[in-house]
Amino acid sequence: MDDLLIRGGLVIDGTGAPGREADVSVSAGRIGAIAPRSERPARRVIDARGQVVAPGFIDIHTHSDFTLPLNPRAESKIRQGVTLEVVGNCGFSVAPALPGRAAMLREYLASSAPWLPFGETSFADYVAAFPSTALNVILQVGHNTLRLMTAGMDNRAVTGDELATMERLLAEALAAGAWGMSSGLFTAPGAYADAAEIHALARVLRRHGAAYSSHIRDEANHVTDAVREAIAVAEATGVHVQIAHLKLSGVDNWGGAARLLDEIAAARRRGLAVDCDAYPYDTASNP
Ligand SMILES: [Zn+2]
Repeated sequence: MDDLLIRGGLVIDGTGAPGREADVSVSAGRIGAIAPRSERPARRVIDARGQVVAPGFIDIHTHSDFTLPLNPRAESKIRQGVTLEVVGNCGFSVAPALPGRAAMLREYLASSAPWLPFGETSFADYVAAFPSTALNVILQVGHNTLRLMTAGMDNRAVTGDELATMERLLAEALAAGAWGMSSGLFTAPGAYADAAEIHALARVLRRHGAAYSSHIRDEANHVTDAVREAIAVAEATGVHVQIAHLKLSGVDNWGGAARLLDEIAAARRRGLAVDCDAYPYDTASNP
């Protein structure tokens, strides 16, 4: 006997195939069968006629590392069907926080998450202390945070020593369970980084099989240059690049989406691993 039979829903299986009406049998937490009309007995039957049955959604761009420690049940996300969140976006992560630099990180991020302690922590300790949550979480290291830990808010290129420290902190975080690094090149102090700095860190990502996501340097009149800058990271290092919340800000730029998507499509045709995501609504926000 199965644990669960979800009967008569429109099954959208995530492969891109069109939805089809089917019964879904679940046993021991796994799908046992998907059939047009199942006769398999089940302890619990859900009548899903008129509903959509789909795998859990991945929310690829969130800042829920600010909120999950406060509310690990994440009901608002669960009710939207989200079962996995990618956090630590736009260059912002709450770890690592080095001795003597935690107050700076607190000042930097506290307005977004005044309830977090922002104490000194390695990334590994942060992972260990992260609460059990109702959904799965992929952590990223923030480039702004790495820069705060080294050059602070200084508007300048990092020194060789500082870059080496950033590379070491990134490698430690990846070893501790982070899946990638995000940048926020629109925002200080990440905005002070040049291509060489980002490429050096991207090479660390590449060595660890990790990915790079970017809130790009400009989303308005220079958005094409900013998209090209992100693509160049993939070109120079071979790392997977995710362009975050791709948008065109300002009425002068409206209508340019096809041109931007062409840039990305052309990069993909050259064999580069470049993707983008967008808000699921018409208006824009930052981040
Ligand atoms: Zn952003």
